[in-house]
Amino acid sequence: MDIQAIIDDISTALRPRLGEGSVASYIPQLAKVDPKQLGIAITTVEGETFVSGDADIAFSIQSVSKVFTLTLALGKAGETIWKRVGREPSGSAFNSIVQLEQEHGVPRNPFINAGAIVVTDMVLSGHQPREAIGEILRFLRYLADDETISIDEAVAASEQETGYRNRALANFMRGFGNLEHPVDHVLGVYFHQCALSMTCRQLARAGLFLANHGRDAMTGHSVVSPRRARRINALMLTCGHYDGSGDFAYHVGLPGKSGVGGGIMAIAPGKASIAVWSPGLNKVGNSLLGAEALEMLAARTGWSVFGA
Ligand code: GLU
Repeated sequence: MDIQAIIDDISTALRPRLGEGSVASYIPQLAKVDPKQLGIAITTVEGETFVSGDADIAFSIQSVSKVFTLTLALGKAGETIWKRVGREPSGSAFNSIVQLEQEHGVPRNPFINAGAIVVTDMVLSGHQPREAIGEILRFLRYLADDETISIDEAVAASEQETGYRNRALANFMRGFGNLEHPVDHVLGVYFHQCALSMTCRQLARAGLFLANHGRDAMTGHSVVSPRRARRINALMLTCGHYDGSGDFAYHVGLPGKSGVGGGIMAIAPGKASIAVWSPGLNKVGNSLLGAEALEMLAARTGWSVFGA
């Protein structure tokens, strides 16, 4: 299979549509990003990398970071984390507060904002906020095997200023006793993890362990157990695209996690880790052309977990 030709075809097919969708405007710094960009990167379990389009331009990974903080929290606290966050799709917007009250401050899953904020509270345990941010950054640099990865402080500050809804979610959960640290500390870390700036090439490389039974296919190092990798993939499939998760599974059929910066990391288990990026979002906050690129890729490669 000629993966390079496939992703070049996809880039060419989608290029006339660049700019469709709308960039996230509730984070002022993200509203400045040029929407007419599309990058695709694939790292296979054989260790090959293929890129097309704007795959070497860094973007704000936003909620894709939630996969990595979940991995860290599971490493720290194991399965006990499920006492504080659920594993069911929410069917609500990423920043919705509605279910939280009914469900007594226990968020539906680790990939909606409330759930990710609880997970970040777990990563913060035993650390000062600055150390926790350092731990997350080091983990991404290690996974991507790239020391140049950084956090975009302007994006973090922009969210800090305008993160009213996240502050509401966090205060609400603290009121229910489901946050152990001060809201400002937890959100300080959360905004920085969301502001991680990475390219498609780096993101595809960082996700490789999830495509390879928990083991980094390039170095041979074990990151998580095969069972844990399978479970993280299951959560991405069911909850990785907010209330667009069912639609993404229907069209693409791969575990994936999106972010409002327009990035999506998708995992073809046993085959490859994929990152796509295009800043224009659909109405539920997922990259419009990114999801279409993945749908075309799944169709051409037969990589969907549900078969061709
Ligand atoms: N930092 C964003 C927020 O908390 C993440 C949302 C997303 O990427 O879906 O609002």
